[in-house]
Amino acid sequence: MKLPFHDYHIHTVYSGHSDPDMIVSDVIRYAEARGLEEIALTEHSFDWHLGPDGNMKLIKKEIRKAAPRIKVFAGMEICPDFKHPGRLVYEDFDKGSIYPVLTGFHSYPGFDKGWHELLNMSPADKKKIYSSWLGIMEKVVENPLVDILAHPCRIIMQNGIVREFTGPILKDLENLFIAAKTRAVAVELNEGLFCRINGDRIRKSYLDVFRLAIEKGVKISIGSDSHRILDVGNFDNIYSAALELGLKKKDFLSLSQ
Ligand SMILES: [Zn+2]
Ligand SMILES: [Zn+2]
Repeated sequence: MKLPFHDYHIHTVYSGHSDPDMIVSDVIRYAEARGLEEIALTEHSFDWHLGPDGNMKLIKKEIRKAAPRIKVFAGMEICPDFKHPGRLVYEDFDKGSIYPVLTGFHSYPGFDKGWHELLNMSPADKKKIYSSWLGIMEKVVENPLVDILAHPCRIIMQNGIVREFTGPILKDLENLFIAAKTRAVAVELNEGLFCRINGDRIRKSYLDVFRLAIEKGVKISIGSDSHRILDVGNFDNIYSAALELGLKKKDFLSLSQ
């Protein structure tokens, strides 16, 4: 099986926390050298200078200046707005002027802690986070600005909030994917996420999430979530997942089509 060689989730020096080698033109040259067909630069919405004259404008200018030989999209990864479920923390742009728009959780709703922090959560806390996460996901998938759900479920796989994707959780996800299909929102196989999954049981059941997405007709987007140049187009985990899932070319999102 040959994966479409797209990387639709790449960060740059503009994130403020990527390696200094993630200069836009260098990322493009590296992606070309690796034989990638399409890439999307998808900078975070946090710690960022937004607005029409902000970093987005500078990134677009750098892309133009680099004169890419491959298709390069100027997208963004924008957090959902926890205070206004269904909205994104940044929406001051026209649909399509930033493309693709990825959305995903980077902190725990109601807890003000980063997704990667090890926290001592009570069962009641976990239940509360899960239900806030689900409520926000169900609404944000309806937001017309959103194109891709980035690293889906990553936040609820941390700190033992969800230990396995089974019965009721898959039922919740089924409803989410039905809405995603209706809105033509894709879900992302995220290489970075796979590197952080601990344990076979959760990894195996995480693939069931994508089985369900495919069954509901949702497209799969591929993203490395690179913050350093050697990770661009590195899909070792995604490749094995795609093999296990038996994904076909038609199952993948293509931004240029
Ligand atoms: Zn992210
Ligand atoms: Zn990211």
